[in-house]
Amino acid sequence: MESSRLKIAIQKSGRLAEHSLKLLAKCGIKLEKSKDQLLCRAQNFPIDVLLVRDDDIPAFVLTDVCQLGIVGENVLNELQVQPESGNYSNIQVVKKLGFGHCRLSLAVPSEVVYAGIKYLNGKTIATSYKGLLLEYLKDQNVNAKIVTMNGAVEIAPKTQLADAICDLVSTGNTLASNGLKEVEVILNSQAVLVRNPDMNDSLSLLSNRLITRVRAVLKAQNSRYIVLHAPVSMLDDIKGVLPGSEAPTVIPLKGSDDQVAVHAVSDEEIFWNTMEDLKAKGASSILVMPIEKMMD
Ligand code: ATP
Ligand code: ZN
Repeated sequence: MESSRLKIAIQKSGRLAEHSLKLLAKCGIKLEKSKDQLLCRAQNFPIDVLLVRDDDIPAFVLTDVCQLGIVGENVLNELQVQPESGNYSNIQVVKKLGFGHCRLSLAVPSEVVYAGIKYLNGKTIATSYKGLLLEYLKDQNVNAKIVTMNGAVEIAPKTQLADAICDLVSTGNTLASNGLKEVEVILNSQAVLVRNPDMNDSLSLLSNRLITRVRAVLKAQNSRYIVLHAPVSMLDDIKGVLPGSEAPTVIPLKGSDDQVAVHAVSDEEIFWNTMEDLKAKGASSILVMPIEKMMD
């Protein structure tokens, strides 16, 4: 039955599109059709993927056209701070996904001597994020005029349309190439998995299954499996150096009384200096491996 299929809205093309599809693939979702379609059916899980503009994703989720969505916090929060736009605060953020990182920032022409937020009093600021900017200015007690633009915000100061801009920044290269500098961060954003809280029981079960897979993929992505040999006498010291692994498995090594093998899952990246510390404490044959899947 069609209505028993879960629907998830993701960006069709743009900065979140590929990461979103990759995440679904890692969750074992195999899509039937090419991504030129609006709707892709999964072959092996009762889910359909709706490929749309990122700005439309919260509305699809809010109206239960889709039960789940992947969208930037910037897009969601902008809708949530505008009560007149709808009940977007009903949308639940399930999980931060670790991609699509950016900042919503204020930027001014590079030559401006910027001594603090009060500089913006009486100035004009161009943005596509009027709601978030208004809220920020109110918090900071700054009185500025806001000009809403739908794109190419960074050219506004050059065209005398505005004195400053409020826009998304990741590397800062676009700002620099337009003669601008970042002066305040209003919001740190990344892609999030969101859900409609009011789905029927069978869709809720399916969405929980998918959410469990997403959590498992992210957990595995951030974890490492470490194997090493250690002198028994140094075991406690070595355990002390292993990051984020509470209970490593210690296995005797055949034919050796004073050496053991230690296996551990670390929920952090293992850096070279940690490996050097382990070696300095007598560890040898140290292997650090990525984990493909992980479920508690
Ligand atoms: P669409 O056609 O879907 O409306 P878009 O042009 O609005 O696409 P993209 O530029 O693809 O959107 O950005 C999608 C999301 O990627 C943003 O909403 C934001 O969450 C994230 N993002 C990460 N880095 C940046 C960046 N430097 N500039 C803009 N967005 C960024
Ligand atoms: Zn967009």
